[in-house]
Amino acid sequence: MKEVICICCPKGCHLQVDEEHDYKVTGNGCPNGLAYGKEEITNPTRIVTSTVRVTGGIHPRCPVKTDKAVPKKLVPAVMEALNDIDLKAPAAGGAVVIEHVCGTDANIVTTRSI
Ligand code: SF4
Repeated sequence: MKEVICICCPKGCHLQVDEEHDYKVTGNGCPNGLAYGKEEITNPTRIVTSTVRVTGGIHPRCPVKTDKAVPKKLVPAVMEALNDIDLKAPAAGGAVVIEHVCGTDANIVTTRSI
């Protein structure tokens, strides 16, 4: 039995996930916790948020994020890929900075214009 805190809403339910019984989830306050608890044990994913270096803008960095969750084990590689980016201003909010980051189906996109 593993314990996971559901992060799908501010209630933060403490979930128990039973690995020996098909990842049965208990402690959830709503159905969203069922899927979250199982996924968090079998294939945890995360939205990655960070910043990239900017050239030619009034701000030295631009906030970015993945447009989909990526496998948690790839988060360090995604952060490493962001270190190599030198974004040229101007760029619109939502502009794709890296397509299919680290071989995933997620893109890195800007979260503001610069
Ligand atoms: S299980 Fe439902 S109610 Fe509980 S934290 Fe997750 S989303 Fe919120």
